[in-house]
Amino acid sequence: MAQQASTKAERLTNLRPTVHLSTHAGEAKYGHFIGGEWVAPASGDYYPVVDPSTGTIVGNFARGNAEDIDKAVQSAQKGFRAWSALEARDRSRILYETARLIRENSDWLAHLETLDTGKPLKVSVADVETCARYFEYFAGSADKIFGEVIPASNDQLVYTLREPYGVTGHIIPWNGPITQAGRGIAPALAAGNSAVVKPDDKTCATTLELAALCMEAGLPAGVLNVVTGDGAVTGQALVDHALVRKIAFTGSVATGKLVIQRAAERICPVTSELGGKSPFIVFSDADLDEAARLAVKAFVYNSGQICSAGTRLLVEASVADAFTGKVAAALEQVTVGAGVDDADIGPVISESQMSRVLDYIDIGVREGAKVVCGGARIQAGQLGSGFFVAPTLFSNVNNTMRIAREEIFGPVGCIIPFTSQKEAVRIANDSDFGLAAAVWTRDIGRAHDVARQLEAGQVYVNDFMPVGVEAPFGGYKMSGIGREKGIESLMHYTQLKTVTVNMKHQGQ
Ligand code: NAD
Repeated sequence: MAQQASTKAERLTNLRPTVHLSTHAGEAKYGHFIGGEWVAPASGDYYPVVDPSTGTIVGNFARGNAEDIDKAVQSAQKGFRAWSALEARDRSRILYETARLIRENSDWLAHLETLDTGKPLKVSVADVETCARYFEYFAGSADKIFGEVIPASNDQLVYTLREPYGVTGHIIPWNGPITQAGRGIAPALAAGNSAVVKPDDKTCATTLELAALCMEAGLPAGVLNVVTGDGAVTGQALVDHALVRKIAFTGSVATGKLVIQRAAERICPVTSELGGKSPFIVFSDADLDEAARLAVKAFVYNSGQICSAGTRLLVEASVADAFTGKVAAALEQVTVGAGVDDADIGPVISESQMSRVLDYIDIGVREGAKVVCGGARIQAGQLGSGFFVAPTLFSNVNNTMRIAREEIFGPVGCIIPFTSQKEAVRIANDSDFGLAAAVWTRDIGRAHDVARQLEAGQVYVNDFMPVGVEAPFGGYKMSGIGREKGIESLMHYTQLKTVTVNMKHQGQ
């Protein structure tokens, strides 16, 4: 049964049991968000989602299926007509208002994100702000999507138009739910598309709430729809739906391949933002203290669950021991705790992710790497009921080991020594992935030279981590196809039409 979208006050009331977690509290129940309404799943089934910090249920979410996806896509198709009929400046105003509402509701959105993901509150607050920035940034771009006049012939006027696809389908993972929702939805809507979003089944709450906020900001019903449930059912149904004209997928290489293959069956374009195993190269002339500080951030931020995490620390051999000591000392200072306790890092997302990370730590030990710090689950006190892994540093690693080649997606870094610039670049590029890379040196010539040679979508010099929402982001090699963020991403949410006008016939 459909219900009207709740007001902010009602949503806060509904959220109260989750915000004030207690064993006696009731549990929030979420439907899909389709056509501007909360809609019960066709199956009638709901599934529980737990807070990875405590194992406590955060809420119950609709288990979607192909029928729900069809309902959402049909609704988006209607929404597209209304949305694309608006003037670009009117779409822009609604996106600006969404940004304002996200900020106004930042406290409880961040709290909800923390309960859902285990992220420290300060990280969720920053993520919610980033989501607001996506809406603000792309609001400003909605009325600046230009075509070109092409000087092809004196007898013809040739120009291009950038047009929306229609319904875009967005599949997002669990490591940054609200930022990744904003990263795709805002440019898609700015370009005039409507959207159906499928968040990861473990982290749906803030994406659903975002859709409700967009409605409150004036988005016409049906322009943004959210369907929750298993990826293999709902995600696949979204990819297969004939009315979805463009897919934006963020997730693992394995699922990315499946999505690209299925979309190829109906020649549907896919932007894919996949995994990484990013090198963090430290030359002996670098500021080793600052490099060590940011190296720790590079592989433990968000408990290492960042696609671009700098997990391969390539260090010039002459300073490898000294650098390892500095990283180990900085790691000892990293605090670990429940998301709401706002330590430096929280748990990993789930019990199965924790097992995966611990398995990789075992693999590293069996491969002959040496555990310098961490290397185990943390179960002290209340952390025993959550999924906490100690920040872990390996030395004695070479680039052929599985811990150096495969994405672990946990707080695990590897020190790999090198003896020359050539060797550093060779090791850095010897990877299936090509998402990010960092170069640490005081030699500006070498910094540019290495940056040019690295096979990666983003290179940081004496720094680490993507900046804001403005700079294009995406991968080389198996890290993906296309770009999100920045004006570049608008190109991926529009299709190009070339119009040729025969000028000779004018006036006859
Ligand atoms: P995943 O591939 O298992 O899941 C990602 C999404 O795909 C989820 O919403 C999931 O429900 C859905 N899905 C699962 N099976 C599907 C199917 N058959 N058809 C359609 N959709 C399906 O990824 P994950 O392990 O949950 O997420 C972590 C991965 O995401 C890591 O590899 C990480 O590097 C990557 N990631 C990349 C970026 C980037 O911008 N490059 C950002 C964040 C995460």
